[in-house]
Amino acid sequence: MTDKFFEGFKRFKTSYFGDDSALYASMKEGQPAKTLMIACSDSRVDPAILTDCDPGDLFTVRNVANLVPPCESHGDYHGTSSALEFAVNHLKVENIIIMGHANCGGIKALWDDDGSTQSQFIHPWVRMAERAKRRVKATMSDLPASQQLKACEQEAVLESLQNLLTFPWIAEKVEAGTLRLHGWYFDLAEGELLNFDPKSKQFKNVI
Ligand SMILES: [Zn+2]
Repeated sequence: MTDKFFEGFKRFKTSYFGDDSALYASMKEGQPAKTLMIACSDSRVDPAILTDCDPGDLFTVRNVANLVPPCESHGDYHGTSSALEFAVNHLKVENIIIMGHANCGGIKALWDDDGSTQSQFIHPWVRMAERAKRRVKATMSDLPASQQLKACEQEAVLESLQNLLTFPWIAEKVEAGTLRLHGWYFDLAEGELLNFDPKSKQFKNVI
């Protein structure tokens, strides 16, 4: 199985360390990324593959259901928050993109949870987006279940965008206009990428 990955690395090495090695040569001292992408761990939604990016383009955080927690100081192990801090305060990224996706297992776990589902880490984590689920249940309960779930996946992106603003150093930069926040949704069933338009409050096809 790992042979597939070693063969892939050979092709990567030929591409980036062969005749044209300027890209990595230019990045030896540091990464130039000016965009932070927060995406799901799901194997079908790799941000660099979806956007055909080069190494150095995207600073990426991937977690279950592409969630951003609110700014909290209790506890010690803040993986997503520490990546936010590094990207915003050290790399000084100019854009943060949260990319949700269709058929997300993490959001499905949230959706199906009646509050009593037990898992060691997954449910406590995805319940972070409980408000998104409640909004959908309150306003769209007459829609088919699949549409409600899709709406929940999109609402969870909006919830995470709100949580970004609870970090004071993010809110300050957004206010100053030096940092922009974006909500995306990759519909892997349709092969479409949608971008949230704050004016119309709708996710719109980017192509
Ligand atoms: Zn997912």
